[in-house]
Parts: sequence; structure tokens; C-alpha cells
Amino acid sequence: MSLLDPLLGVVQGLRRAGWAGVVAAAMLAACAVADPEPSGMQGGGAALGGHESLLGGPIEKPRPGAPGIGDPLFPLLGNGGYDVLHYELELRYATAAPTQPLDGTVRIFAQATQALSQLDLDFAGDSVGEVRIGDAAAAFVRDGDELVITPPQAIARGEVFLITVVHFVATPKVPSAQRFLGAPFFSTPDGSGWAGQPSNAHRVFPSNDHPSDKATFSFRIDVPEGTTAVASGVATGVETGGGRSIYSFEQRTPMATELAQVAVGAYTVVPRASSDTGVIVRDVIPTRLLAAFEPKLAIVTDQLNWLEARVGAYPFPTYGTFVVEASLGFALESQTLSLYQSSYFAGAQSTYDTLMVHELAHQWFGDSVAPARWADVWLNEGHATWYELTYRGGPDAAAFVNTMHALYARGDQYRDQYGPVASPPSGNPFLLFNSNVYGGGCLALFALRQQIGDAAFQQVERAWVSRFGGLSATTADFIALASEISQQDLTAFLTDWLYGTVTPPMPGHPEWTVNPLALAADDALAADPMALTVGEPALLRR
Ligand SMILES: [Zn+2]
Repeated sequence: MSLLDPLLGVVQGLRRAGWAGVVAAAMLAACAVADPEPSGMQGGGAALGGHESLLGGPIEKPRPGAPGIGDPLFPLLGNGGYDVLHYELELRYATAAPTQPLDGTVRIFAQATQALSQLDLDFAGDSVGEVRIGDAAAAFVRDGDELVITPPQAIARGEVFLITVVHFVATPKVPSAQRFLGAPFFSTPDGSGWAGQPSNAHRVFPSNDHPSDKATFSFRIDVPEGTTAVASGVATGVETGGGRSIYSFEQRTPMATELAQVAVGAYTVVPRASSDTGVIVRDVIPTRLLAAFEPKLAIVTDQLNWLEARVGAYPFPTYGTFVVEASLGFALESQTLSLYQSSYFAGAQSTYDTLMVHELAHQWFGDSVAPARWADVWLNEGHATWYELTYRGGPDAAAFVNTMHALYARGDQYRDQYGPVASPPSGNPFLLFNSNVYGGGCLALFALRQQIGDAAFQQVERAWVSRFGGLSATTADFIALASEISQQDLTAFLTDWLYGTVTPPMPGHPEWTVNPLALAADDALAADPMALTVGEPALLRR
């Protein structure tokens, strides 16, 4: 979502004043919502346009919100009819056992984008205790991954309302690379963590689980004294007493549900030098692995300085690395605290530093600017791959150009196998996070730079993260921005690169040719530049 400042004030006010403030809040919010977002996919997705003012408009007949937010790759992910402003999560871990379930309560401050007789949250955890709308009990049923809620009274369009889900329970799983992304709430020998991308945060907590509905978060994590808890955002305090500790965190910049991180266990928080611009850096490391990992991860501050010099101010107040001893099969850009499995750091620095840059780049590209629909995920992965490669030498370096040449040769095979860059064939994670989204997305950026020149390209990159920071944006937004800044109409050019089924000519490299589709499978594998470039286990996604 796009969090309008007045609404943030409303939310904070609600938290101070209690539910009595809601009527006033609803009136304010009705005014605040009168101007829909400029970008079509923001703000909860469904049906923001064309409504009447709450004040003086015709009475709208309440109807159920849609069970999905309208993402073709994930028809039931997210929900229609409201826009979440803020999540307040209270999470209790009864013991120090890594495998224990968590018992949570979530308060969701939301604003109706239609008159609602019923609404859904996404939730696929173990159980739900009760649901309230405001301070009244609400009927609910679980239907697959939907938590279908019937408020005691209809909710008016524009109204800000509070959904409370009490005593939801979720149990961690031991992750396995064979069950790719199968453990969004995972346990390790040392504790647990979260990995909700792309569509699994609702297996941990009830939510509107789609990156087009971003919201601010607060966390209160109740653990046995001696257990460490760290969540996305800034630490705001620890209260200890009676053998328990409650850790508080605030994520005041909007976050997609899939990017929430909650690390609980026998972890040590390692403070690092701040970045040149004052970003607070801390890492989260299993205590028994501290000696091995503390020195290895120290490069993160230099990487922050390096990337800020290229794309502009880091979008959050804090950053760091969270290492777990687990077989995840991927690294993940959870907001302000990137997640890695320990084995990725087994070799020399040159074997993992680019992976760290990749996840760091996502904090701008993917986290601060989130994809409005999952088909837009090349905007995350293409850019992260670009800066990962740039870390070894900029886009004019021979190694970079050679990689682009190899990707170009592979272009039609990728498109044939995985679909166009901005049109992955499925929400299946193997097909969504495919080599054409990563390598093909990076190649499309290379083509753009060839077309408009380095100075304009750098301006586009900086403008993208400054203009759309905190929002959810579309591929069309990117094409429009690149056209505006380069003062060229790039619609046809970028549409061919991003949606075409054949690889377009590369500006400046008329000699580059594309491999035929019929290349033998062995040759095709050997020629796969994504494998050649990153030299990683085949299943690693990042
Ligand atoms: Zn990535």
C-alpha cells in the first residue's frame, strides 16, 4: 500500500486512544482516500477507482470482499475490499525449543475500499482462537487458505477498522532444499526464522498476503529470558521479568508481508559500524557459530556504502545479515535483515560477497519498491542481478559484457522455456523465480543502458527507487519512468525486451546472435550463463 502520512497518524492515534477513536478516524480516512494512487496497482489492488465520497454519496450496498487481490499468478493470494495500514503482531514462544509452535495475536488496522458485508484474511497456520472487528466478536470460518470473517455490522467504504485475530497458532518445519520454499516458518538447531516469499507469509500469520498491500508493522515477541528475538525494523526495547523477555520492534516504512522476518533462538546480535549515512548495522548469528561468522559478515557495511553511492540513500534505518544453519536452498531479502543459510559462507569471501550484494540490492529493488503483481518480479531480480554483477566490475567491464553476451545467446531458449521476462508462466516457485527473470531481467536492463546511455540509465535507477520507494510498482511504471527520463518513447523497445517471445537485437552489438532453440540439452546446460555466472547449487535462488 501507499501509506499516506495522515493515515499513519490515524493509526498511531488509534493505538493511543483505543477503539473510541475509530469514528473520527473513519471520517478522516474517508477524506484521505478520496485521491486514488497514481499507479494503478497500489493500495490493496481491487476497485479503488470510481467510488463516491463517503460524505454525501449514495449508500453503497455492502458485499463480500474478493477472496484474492487480483494477481493472475496467485488468484487467491491477498484479498479485495480493504487496504491494510498497519499490523501489530504479538508473538509468544512459550519455551526455548526451536520446534515449538508460536501463539500469536495480530491487530490489523485496515481501511475499506468498498462497503463490506464480509472480508477475508489469508491464513494457513494451525488454528485460530477468535476474531474481532473493533471490540465485537466476529463470526469466522476457514476455507482453504482463506479466513472468512463476517463482521457483526457492515463496514462502510472508506472506514478505518480494526481486525483482531486472537491466539492464532503456527508450527515451524525443518526446512529442506528438496521442499523448496516449503517451510516459511522454519526451525534450525538454534531457533527459528521466517521466509514467506513469495506467497507463504500467511502460513505463519493472518494477513493480506500480497506485496501490493504494504503496511507498517510493530512486533512484540515474548520469549523465555535468555532467548534472543529480532524482527524486521528497529529495536525499540526489551522488558524482562518473571523469567520472560518481551522484545519490541517497529517497521515504520511499509513492508510486504512476505518480507517480514522474526528470528527467535540462541542467537547473538552483533553490532557493526554504521554506514557513512548512519544506517545502523547489526547481524544475527547463532551464538555457537559466532567465532566463525562474525569476521566473515563484517563486509556488509562497506557494501552498504558501495550501493548507496550508486543508487542513493538506503531506504530503511537498519540492515544486517541473519545466518541460520539450515538447508533452505535460497537466500532471502527479508526487509532490513537478509536471511542466508550458513553453508553459503563456507568458502572464501569471493564466493559469497556477490550474494550479499544481491540481497542488499533487493532492499531497494523488491523491498522498498515492491512488485505490484508477481509477474513484475523481474524488477526485483533483474536489478539485484545487475548490482551483483556490477560488484565485480561495472557494465563496461569485460566480464560483465561477456556475461551479457552469453545471456543474449541464451535469450530465445529462456523465453521458450520460462516465458517472457515480465511474464513468468506460473506461481510455482521454480517457474516464477526462473533464469529469465534473473538473467533475462538483467539483460533487459543492459539493453536499456545500451539504448539510452549510462548517464540516463543511472538517473532511471535512482529515480525508480526515490519515486516509488515505499510503494508497489508495475513494469508499466518502469517503462514510463525510463521513457520520461531518457526523453525517448521506450514503450515498444522495452515491451519487446520484457514481453516478446523472441530476443530483440542488442543496441550497439549487431554482431551478437541468439542460439537456436534446438540446441542439444547438454550444450544448452553448458551454455547456461546463470549457472556459469553464479557457480552455485542448482537450486539456489536469492
Ligand atoms: Zn533475488
